Amino acid sequence: MSKVLVIGAGGVGSVAVHKMAMNPDIFSDIHLASRTVSKCDAIAESVKQRTGVDIQTYAIDADDVAATTKLIQSIGPKLVVNLALPYQDLAIMDACLAAGTHYLDTANYEPRDEAKFEYKWQWAYQDKFKQAGLMALLGSGFDPGVTSVFAMWLKKHKLKTIRLLDILDCNGGDHGQPFATNFNPEINIREVTAPARHWENGEFVETPAMGVKQQFDFEGVGPKNMYMMYHEELESLAKFLPDMERARFWMTFGDAYLQHLTVLQNVGMTRIDPVMYNGVEIIPLQFLKAVLPEPASLGATTKGKTNIGDIATGEALDGSGEKTFYVKNICDHEEAYAETGNQAVSYTTGVPAMIGAAMMLTGKWRGEGVFNIEQLDPDPFMEMLNSHGLPWTVEELDGPLSF
Ligand code: NDP
Repeated sequence: MSKVLVIGAGGVGSVAVHKMAMNPDIFSDIHLASRTVSKCDAIAESVKQRTGVDIQTYAIDADDVAATTKLIQSIGPKLVVNLALPYQDLAIMDACLAAGTHYLDTANYEPRDEAKFEYKWQWAYQDKFKQAGLMALLGSGFDPGVTSVFAMWLKKHKLKTIRLLDILDCNGGDHGQPFATNFNPEINIREVTAPARHWENGEFVETPAMGVKQQFDFEGVGPKNMYMMYHEELESLAKFLPDMERARFWMTFGDAYLQHLTVLQNVGMTRIDPVMYNGVEIIPLQFLKAVLPEPASLGATTKGKTNIGDIATGEALDGSGEKTFYVKNICDHEEAYAETGNQAVSYTTGVPAMIGAAMMLTGKWRGEGVFNIEQLDPDPFMEMLNSHGLPWTVEELDGPLSF
């Protein structure tokens, strides 16, 4: 019997909790806490309607370590699944250490005043978790998360070494809004306005944001423009696959999205430094988030598919020379919505969060210290992707991307 506490009642938290409730043999007792308890209650109601499972809900400000520690102690879960925002990661890790509970998240810690996308703050918790005999699993979403597991699965079953890696993230969904982001707008806009970085010959090479554009024909979606950008799994992949010559991350954006973003940037609305307004300090990007549609509200209208995968080239394990493989998942927005009440971007993150939690609770993945998902056996995770809503395919390509 495994008790779990999920913190964060956004789209990702909602999917994870629904999927946990659909697996009562692993998640026998589910608790959900977030800043706004009414959002937890709405998720609990939907879970009850869809699965018949009761979940307990709580209000918590996870920036408050003492209050979070107290909540964890009063519930007594085996694992805390952090699906709040990256700003809360260290506070929730501290609370887990104080309460003696394992930890999982889907996004690296971010300081509020600077977009960094670095693991160093969380890697610094290695000794503390080890000494406490606890496990912290970082980055168990889709990207980071599944994209890293895909690479490690190819390394285990197909390629002796990975020389070239391209991660391709396509959202072919249309939500019908002039401008909206599919996950937390603040984090999403910080990510896409940051300079691009890719890994090449042992170091990160920086290029201007949205400066490198290519077209790719995505199965289930069609041809789309994709842009090279930095994404946090490049850091952990470069660390755990040190033989890689080059690793890049690509994401698709429509022209209308980029036009809106350019205007917002030009007028200063994406700034993350405080400005004074009517005697009050405000962060423009946080204000922008308040006026944009809630990602969780886009589910009902979003149509189309996501297609996210890895193209990896390297020496084949069977000695047949250099080979290229493409592993990917295609997820349908409307099917995701029908199952959990959330669109596919939340679905493709919430399902791997549930699977990572299942790995830890069933003991398939265990350890003491702070772990990135690349350090754990990809096989049981890949198996669960297939049986829990994110089936994947692998195919051999003629060669690496031509660009
Ligand atoms: P949302 O903004 O929809 O949800 C975040 C939730 O966290 C909200 O319910 C919010 O509460 C709550 N929250 C914020 N601050 C606090 C706090 N101090 N204490 C308690 N709760 C708090 O985001 P998403 O669901 O889209 O994303 C959740 C996480 O998943 C993010 O960290 C995001 O970066 C990550 N992510 C990872 C992906 C991956 O593939 N690895 C992809 C997409 C997202 P309130 O409602 O009151 O604001």
